Amino acid sequence: DTVNGISGNLFDVYLKPYFGNDALRPLCKGDRFIVHGNMHAVEFKVVDAEPADRVVVRPETAIYCSDQPVKREEEERLDGPGYDDVGGVRKQLAQIRELVELPLRHPKLFQTLGVKPPKGILLYGPPGTGKTLLARAIASESGAHFVVVNGPEIMSMIAGQSEANLRKVFEDAEKFAPSVIFMDEIDAIAPNRDKTHGEVERRVVSQLLTLMDGLRPRAQVVVIGATNRPNSLDPALRRFGRFDRELDIGVPDEVGRLEILRIHTKDMPLAEDVDLERIGKDTHGFVGADLAALCSEAALQLIREKMDVIDVEEDTIDVDVLDSLCVCNEHLKHAMEVTKPSALRERGLVEVPKV
Ligand code: ADP
Repeated sequence: DTVNGISGNLFDVYLKPYFGNDALRPLCKGDRFIVHGNMHAVEFKVVDAEPADRVVVRPETAIYCSDQPVKREEEERLDGPGYDDVGGVRKQLAQIRELVELPLRHPKLFQTLGVKPPKGILLYGPPGTGKTLLARAIASESGAHFVVVNGPEIMSMIAGQSEANLRKVFEDAEKFAPSVIFMDEIDAIAPNRDKTHGEVERRVVSQLLTLMDGLRPRAQVVVIGATNRPNSLDPALRRFGRFDRELDIGVPDEVGRLEILRIHTKDMPLAEDVDLERIGKDTHGFVGADLAALCSEAALQLIREKMDVIDVEEDTIDVDVLDSLCVCNEHLKHAMEVTKPSALRERGLVEVPKV
């Protein structure tokens, strides 16, 4: 069996058990492992494995460098969002890194101290505040396998299928560990059993409890649940050993909004008259998704203006046109007029802009 990896120079290698486990487990695409040799430790990332997409690596396994070393920052771009892509949640990010990333990366640390890392954490807050983004960033930064389970989607399946699907998700997560299972709108999967009459819901909640209890402490699987209504969850789920940590991902404040605006204008040519701080002040009630929409709307407005010099039929766009693209205060002002905070929109307090 061979593994194709991207890394630095290859030394006379010998392999140590990786991911801190004593036993070897199959390597699959996207995994990272460290090869020690010549007093150096080289981190590899698996980009391909032959003949199957999973191989057990032994000391005699041949490892090929298929390319030049990749810079960590570049690699993370390819993989998914990084911590730099999430704004306004500094405190929560530090907590979640401690609760999720640390045990995934260094399980030995916890084992040595006899501490069990949490199996589940609950992120709660309104839609669009970055809960999914945060979970994705944690998974990609810690090199973990990432699985999304959408609550309402799982519940819409035919009888028995919801539970079977959940079981498969947990099975795969253990197989491909370290893993993060992200359960979006978990309240749909696990509503309070005392308040629901649905037989399906009751069965699915029990299944989820069983699966979480069945996760071995060394499995290196963390479940991140997201909900806007933590109080509607079945209380058994929030007890010790399951989702026993809760983090509030609230609507961002002014500083948070500025951080998010900077993220979403990072690759945007901005004119000198753009004052992001001002926009951060004037966007009270906007969540991350609203601010992202605001930035896109400003860019779209600029494109609309340029339509007379853009030939839609042509395959390429004139370099001069591309060079002249610059988002200015006017575009952002227009975007603020048409983009409204989703919290207000949901409560029917503002008119939904016509597209
Ligand atoms: P949630 O899961 O809380 O409903 P998402 O993570 O799906 O929210 O957010 C949707 C999009 O909005 C993200 O992909 C991102 O572009 C933007 N966004 C939301 N929150 C943030 C944030 N805190 N920082 C940067 N971008 C954000």
